[in-house]
Amino acid sequence: MIETTESSAHALVDLRAHAAPETAVAIVRTLVRFGRPVLTFAYDHGIRVVPLRRHERYAEASAALSRLGVDVDAWPAPPAGLFVVEERRVYLRSRSPMTVAHEFGHALDCALGAGVYRSGIDPHVRAAFAASRNFVTPYAATGLDEYFAECVRSYVGVNDPASFWPRATRERLRRLDPAMYAYIEALFAGGFAAGAA
Ligand SMILES: [Zn+2]
Repeated sequence: MIETTESSAHALVDLRAHAAPETAVAIVRTLVRFGRPVLTFAYDHGIRVVPLRRHERYAEASAALSRLGVDVDAWPAPPAGLFVVEERRVYLRSRSPMTVAHEFGHALDCALGAGVYRSGIDPHVRAAFAASRNFVTPYAATGLDEYFAECVRSYVGVNDPASFWPRATRERLRRLDPAMYAYIEALFAGGFAAGAA
C-alpha cells in the first residue's frame, strides 16, 4: 500500500467495532493538515484518535477515566474532546476541526514528552509562556498544555467557522508570539522527531 498523508491520518483513527466508518472522514480531513511526517510520528508514539459513538459517555470509552473516577460526563457541559495521557488517546465527542486540531495538539505534546506533556518540562516553552503578553487565543493563556495545543492549532490554521474566538492562524502566532512560533516551526520542520525525548 502506498502511504499517503490521508492513509497516515486514517491509521490514527480508532473506530472500534460499532462506530460508523464515515465518522473518520471529518477527523481525517483535519488531521491531514498536520502533514504526513507529524502523523507518522504520532502513530509511532502510540497516539490514537477515538470518536465517541452517539450518546456514548467518556467513561464508557476510556478505561482510565472510568478507573480514575474522572466523571467528565457529569459536567454541566461535557468537553467536546479530551486527551487521556496515560492511554495516549484523543477522545472526541465533537468532530469539529477546532476540537480535533486542539486535542491532537495535546497528543503531540504527550508524544514529544514520551508519555508526559513536553510543554510542562521544556524550558523553551516555559520561558515563552512566561514572557507572552498577547496570546494567540484566550484559551492559550490558561496553562502550559493549553498554550502548546493552541499554538500548534494556530500553526496548522484550523478553525471552526462558527467560533467566536479570534481565528487562530500561523500569521497571528508569528505576530503575537514570535518565540513560540519559532519553536513550533522547528518542530514541524523536523517532523517532530528531532524534538522527541
Ligand atoms: Zn486542551
